[in-house]
Amino acid sequence: MSTPDVVTGELVCSAKGCRAEAAWGLLWNNPKLHTPARRKVWLACDDHREHLETFLGARDFWRSTVPVAELERTDGA
Ligand SMILES: [Zn+2]
Repeated sequence: MSTPDVVTGELVCSAKGCRAEAAWGLLWNNPKLHTPARRKVWLACDDHREHLETFLGARDFWRSTVPVAELERTDGA
């Protein structure tokens, strides 16, 4: 089973310079850095989802995309 990292703080898009509210969680893994079951999470708004999926996919890091509602969260407190 894969285990997405817990999302901390505000749900803001991970794209550079974007402050939009995220709608999607992109789950990815760099086999050189992470164990196979690990899933790093990038957040994306509707506008940047495809851009970030393409970026990760070009590096064979992208695994799946889920609605942010499915991600485990903490407010960082
Ligand atoms: Zn964005």
